Amino acid sequence: MKIVYSDQHQDHDPQQFIVRGRLKRSNEQPERAYRLLASAQAAGHPVLAPEDHGAGPRAAVHTPQYLHFLETAWARWQALEGASDEVMPNVYPFPGQPCSYPDSLVGQAGYHMGDNACSIGQHTWRAATQSAQVATHAAQLVLDGEHAAYALCRPPGHHAYADRANGFCYLNNAAIAAQHLRQRHARVAILDVDVHHGNGTQGIFWRRNDVLTVSLHGDPHFCTPFFTGHAHERGEGDGLGYNLNLPLPKGTDTPAYLQALARACTAVRAFAPGALVVSLGLDAHERDPYQAMAVTTEGFALITAEIARLGLPTVLVQEGGYLSDDLGPNLASALRGFEAGV
Ligand SMILES: [Zn+2]
Repeated sequence: MKIVYSDQHQDHDPQQFIVRGRLKRSNEQPERAYRLLASAQAAGHPVLAPEDHGAGPRAAVHTPQYLHFLETAWARWQALEGASDEVMPNVYPFPGQPCSYPDSLVGQAGYHMGDNACSIGQHTWRAATQSAQVATHAAQLVLDGEHAAYALCRPPGHHAYADRANGFCYLNNAAIAAQHLRQRHARVAILDVDVHHGNGTQGIFWRRNDVLTVSLHGDPHFCTPFFTGHAHERGEGDGLGYNLNLPLPKGTDTPAYLQALARACTAVRAFAPGALVVSLGLDAHERDPYQAMAVTTEGFALITAEIARLGLPTVLVQEGGYLSDDLGPNLASALRGFEAGV
């Protein structure tokens, strides 16, 4: 399977991440991508650099106001007296209350950054836009006839909304890939197997019936992002019935995961899409630092083999999966499983 990868992420290395009240370096580090790349290369998959698909693909998913903020925020932040090296919000709008777009950059940061896990540094814009190019190029390969392609995206994307960064994510790579595939296919499905709810993806397609969004994830009763991911969230308006959440208990093992995945695949088949995007998180692994689920390394091969049996042109987009000695082997297993299941 062709791998698309850009090294333009490497200077994006957020140092400001608040966990349980403590400031620390982000878990989303360049080393993640190095390990994933090394594993894919060792398994013999050819690696391609993305072509430049321009600003169109990200503009098809994200608002102009948000893209402008993301591109300019770091330089503007540096002009604030006493500002930190990275943009991080300290005020937020209240859901359901009157909210006007703020003139102040500090206010804009709260408007466009949903949590303290997506600080913006000098190189964040370049890394995020290149990551989106990686996803777009993988989608283009599939449009050009590849049955499947893997986008080694960093930073990840599935927590990013149309106008809001969130959870290590800035641009929603999976959504951008799906929208790119819509050029050819009337219906596209996104299947999210990251251990965290794909809240940004859900939000982007919430009112649409041309892109089915399905997410398997840790139940929001115990797992971030907490506010979303419940089974009763099914979309609204034209999108009602085109969002499926399958929240799973803490410690879910491979057999139980595969049972839920069968439900997800049934929904995808019923939708009859022309193409599929997989938000491929590897953080459901039993030794991932998040410790939310207990999927084994071999389990990822079983998961992707089941997905491959959908028989759809597929773009696999890297999402989470954090530093452990299992990260590289988990990707190798996932890619092997997909190819075996085709
Ligand atoms: Zn995750």
